[in-house]
Amino acid sequence: MYKGKVILIKNREGRIAVRFGSHVSIQEGYLGAAKQANALNASAFQYFPKNPRSLSVKEYNQEDAIQCQTFCVQNELLSIAHTPYPTTLTPTDEKKKQMVIASLLNDLEIAELCGSLGVVVHFGKQVFRSDQLASYRLMIEVLNEVLGRWEGKCKILIENLAGKPGTMGTTFEELVRIRELSDYADKIGFCFDTCHAFASGLWDGDNWEVLYEKGVELGYINYLEAVHLNNSKYESGSGKDRHANIFGPGHISENQFEELLGSELFSEIPFILETPKEHVPHKKEIQQLKEKWGS
Ligand SMILES: [Zn+2]
Repeated sequence: MYKGKVILIKNREGRIAVRFGSHVSIQEGYLGAAKQANALNASAFQYFPKNPRSLSVKEYNQEDAIQCQTFCVQNELLSIAHTPYPTTLTPTDEKKKQMVIASLLNDLEIAELCGSLGVVVHFGKQVFRSDQLASYRLMIEVLNEVLGRWEGKCKILIENLAGKPGTMGTTFEELVRIRELSDYADKIGFCFDTCHAFASGLWDGDNWEVLYEKGVELGYINYLEAVHLNNSKYESGSGKDRHANIFGPGHISENQFEELLGSELFSEIPFILETPKEHVPHKKEIQQLKEKWGS
């Protein structure tokens, strides 16, 4: 059992060694996305493997995906993919379920070829009013169907939700249990969204040390593969999923971010901005992060 304190990992210059990046577009293809990340001076990035508004299986350009992977190796870039918005681990009918499964396998294939660590998918929603556990069972069923057909290295990364405290998908316990109860736990990792955690009350800004230790004990932190680094427009416990820029009017302070960023097991994990770039361009925000905390 983990008994230590949160240890800030800093390099010789006293800086924290984490990788900063942002979500980038695939308008110019997968290689184009990697090049865009490089131009932002990022060391990691996230992209949608296909149209973010559709579950349609994409006929993708394999050559482009392989070139993306090669570029990332040469430029020491880490990447993760994000599933399209309609993707849900709790589909309510059989037709939608089969579409989600096909789409997820398609996302995994593309991400694997692009050399990505994993594909981020949101935790399921409570869809059966009479039976609270049925939604969790459905999630496990969908994960098993997808991962039973998946031979690659790329993982499914389950992301915590931003709902009100007590709603589904907002606690480490649920995330850890779903992973453990699936038949393919080693193909599942986690993506921690700081805004969602704050909005749901999981991280209230002042409980990081306790939360981190709990995450280590439960078996969450060890399987954490990526962080969505977002500030929150609303206060902790609001249940509202509205991202804000890191250095700005958000409710998470710089000191609170610093505590999280310096956590022992976080070096080499991609920290991906999903912040409003119309307020602060991602290149500038990555620059601000590197100046403040970068290695
Ligand atoms: Zn997110």
